[in-house]
Amino acid sequence: MSKKNPLAEYLEKRDFRTTPEPAGREAGKRPGKGPIFVIQQHDASNLHYDFRLEAGGVLKSWAVPKGPSTDPREQRLALPTEDHPLDYAEFEGVIPEGEYGAGTVLVWDAGIYVNVKKDDDGHDKPIDACLEDGHLSVWLDGEKLRGGYALTRIASGEQERWLLVKVDDEHADARRNPVSTEPKSVLSGRTLDEIRQERGEQGSDE
Ligand code: MN
Repeated sequence: MSKKNPLAEYLEKRDFRTTPEPAGREAGKRPGKGPIFVIQQHDASNLHYDFRLEAGGVLKSWAVPKGPSTDPREQRLALPTEDHPLDYAEFEGVIPEGEYGAGTVLVWDAGIYVNVKKDDDGHDKPIDACLEDGHLSVWLDGEKLRGGYALTRIASGEQERWLLVKVDDEHADARRNPVSTEPKSVLSGRTLDEIRQERGEQGSDE
């Protein structure tokens, strides 16, 4: 049986003659030290943060309206979205009006992660099984976010919902609020406004 391309929904939603987003056509492998994570601030119709984890050759994705917290008492709603190609981790720019997800994208944090979830016997549990079961426990090694984060599915079906919560470890800090105090891109050092303006100066032809 042929397996459906995990990026089918991603490709279906976008017109690559219009959007500058990467047109990664299939799941791939990426050379490097470990699976990557990226968090993209996305100023679309509603400002949100897209949390993405490399798994199975794609970026598994959730839209987090309030963004991640460093306070273990804060539960952040995370709504699953379509798998994205690995190249998307480096995408920063402006998705033109009329396109799916129109608005500005900024790479808010990025790095590698470790899946620290164990099965009942204490063995490493594969990320696919964690996704299936709706319980992820990952250790992030980013520039803004570090340490453990738990992602837990709280509702399935059409209205699938997850919660993103900081694990109470040495990197937990209730006083930090990086979503508001550290707004710049870790890729380019730019703010959302700067990305928007530079796009305007370039004009719309590419
Ligand atoms: Mn988004």
